[in-house]
Amino acid sequence: MVRWRSSAGLPEDLDTLRAHVEELLARAARPLAGVGVAVPATLDAAGRVTAWPTRPSWVGLDLSEVLRDLFPGSEVSWADDGDLAAVAEAHAAGHSDLVYVGVGTGIGGGIVLGGRPVPGTRRGSCELGHLIVDRDGELCDCGRRGCVQAEASGPATLRRAAAARGAEVTFEELRAGYADGADWAVTAVEHSCAALAAALVGAGELVHPSATVVGGGFAAGIEGFVAEVARQAAMLARPGHPVAPVLPARLGGGSSLHGALLAARGLPNP
Ligand SMILES: [Zn+2]
Repeated sequence: MVRWRSSAGLPEDLDTLRAHVEELLARAARPLAGVGVAVPATLDAAGRVTAWPTRPSWVGLDLSEVLRDLFPGSEVSWADDGDLAAVAEAHAAGHSDLVYVGVGTGIGGGIVLGGRPVPGTRRGSCELGHLIVDRDGELCDCGRRGCVQAEASGPATLRRAAAARGAEVTFEELRAGYADGADWAVTAVEHSCAALAAALVGAGELVHPSATVVGGGFAAGIEGFVAEVARQAAMLARPGHPVAPVLPARLGGGSSLHGALLAARGLPNP
């Protein structure tokens, strides 16, 4: 496990990455046949970074070239972390048609149809976090208002809880407050779950999955969070159109890493 300094720029990040990879390669018993990389940044079809709000110095970097340099002689597959998480969760749950959302510092997600991510890496990643659920909502880091990421990410939920409580709220306090039924915590979590339910049900209207899965560390850390998303989603069903079941992620916070492993093994050919 390696953590990047939050304020570091691209040269330092790449040095950190290279040192870590060299250490891993030195420990490997033989050359790596395949490498899978779950990428949080938005890439173009050629593998160049086009957006990464939390690490803006990476924009313009040819990541595919960096990865080829880091792993000479290995087959390197990369894909959006939300897409890979969705594929891994579909694999784990035995659903070939699935919508996945991961709730953490941001919101990522993916859609799997027939076992494959759509629209597919070469056409751009699935950006479920930027589905607009409130046109007058919070400002998103993409510049728009009311994206589900701006309404329901971990930091957004903590900010809303803090505003309702009139004091800063840590994740632990939110978890305990929600478990105890504190108004400020319940209000904040219910708002986020409603925003997520709107996004999931909206996506479901387009692709009719057999299940929707809610993962990510923030959702997994608050008991009852996924059940609340399911309750809110059920309330959005139309007559004759029940919403797909909303399930907790089977792979916890590691969904995208499991997806990267699948990619390294040549599955699912994203
Ligand atoms: Zn956005």
